[in-house]
Amino acid sequence: MSSVDVSEDAYAPHIPGGSVDRSGTARALLLLGRGSDPDSERGVDCPGELPAISDPGLVERARAAKAALGEKVFVLGHHYQRDEVIQFADVTGDSFKLAREAAARPQAPYIVFCGVHFMAESADILTASSQRVLLPDLAAGCSMADMARDVQVHHAWDALTAAGVAADTVPVTYMNSSAAIKGFTGEHGGLVCTSSNAERALRWAFAQRTEGGGQPKVLFLPDQHLGRNTAVRQLGIGLDECVVYNPLEPNGGLSVEQLQAARMILWRGHCSVHGRFTTAQVAAVRERVAGVRVLVHPECTYEVVSQADLVGSTEFIIDTIESAPAGSSWAIGTELNLVRRLAQAHPDKQITFLESTVCYCATMNRIDLPHLVHTLEGLVRGEVYNQITVEETVAANARTALDRMLAL
Ligand code: SF4
Repeated sequence: MSSVDVSEDAYAPHIPGGSVDRSGTARALLLLGRGSDPDSERGVDCPGELPAISDPGLVERARAAKAALGEKVFVLGHHYQRDEVIQFADVTGDSFKLAREAAARPQAPYIVFCGVHFMAESADILTASSQRVLLPDLAAGCSMADMARDVQVHHAWDALTAAGVAADTVPVTYMNSSAAIKGFTGEHGGLVCTSSNAERALRWAFAQRTEGGGQPKVLFLPDQHLGRNTAVRQLGIGLDECVVYNPLEPNGGLSVEQLQAARMILWRGHCSVHGRFTTAQVAAVRERVAGVRVLVHPECTYEVVSQADLVGSTEFIIDTIESAPAGSSWAIGTELNLVRRLAQAHPDKQITFLESTVCYCATMNRIDLPHLVHTLEGLVRGEVYNQITVEETVAANARTALDRMLAL
């Protein structure tokens, strides 16, 4: 099999005319909370009037609404949220921790999820049917999750079936995917993983007895980098045993022989935040900061991860910095809101952002104080905005895939 092209441009779809779309999608970025994209896993316009962003009373309004709701509302804040939002979170965490926190609060009828769409879906799947999960801005999606659409994944499965390998393929989907993709995964004998347990999930998948009775393969969705980094670095699978399935090309851009020979079939998706870090940035920070340790998220490219000192999930990054000795120097490759907060919380350590330019998650940042106030004040009036509901047949299959992960 030919070796895999892991250069950065290999991950980015090319737009006719020669330019490169690094987002992996051709859609326009909608204005905050306005407009809709029917092809996206994220939603539509926010109903009602949003408070003005210039209102100086927003913090007080959020505080008053939250106090009036008391135990009736539980606010979850993802680590990548803005400071103005995170100050109102009852708990902060990564996507999986937050979904479990929501499930552990059955007494709260309303869960306000300050994160992105797929996270609110997971919370809805894992919480009691009496609980309602709200996303303050329905346009807060995830570009990575959008890179694997339900219809595309079904086409890919058809291609695998035609190549005679579907019966030996176990789908593994990253938490950062739509409920429909998690449901597909559960339905086809696979499981969900997070960036903390991807190694265990892959070992489980490769140990399955498949219907075809052959050597199992994995279809890893939707983040090719987490899939490649885990398979190659932690399971010892060769780079040349990984192929990249491009949903924008017929048959994923792969021959039948390539699909048959591969052990890891990586979906061509990536995170638009973590995909920005480069090996040049790693080299530059090592030059600039003596003794610096480079700490990155496994959604970064294989080359960047290979040059880092430590690699791990958002929770791992936080724990590493918390337990690091005073005076130590770190360059962190993850979302900027989190890196900024870590730097503020640990003034005794030198914490540098690996990127030289601003690198927020644009969709996470759609949740701002006006949207949070809008949601909380709506609940005080008895109005529920932006509820996220996963249809029960999809939720049942997705729960199967999530339960397999929980049983690891
Ligand atoms: S940081 Fe990346 S994976 Fe996370 S929500 Fe933003 S685009 Fe999606």
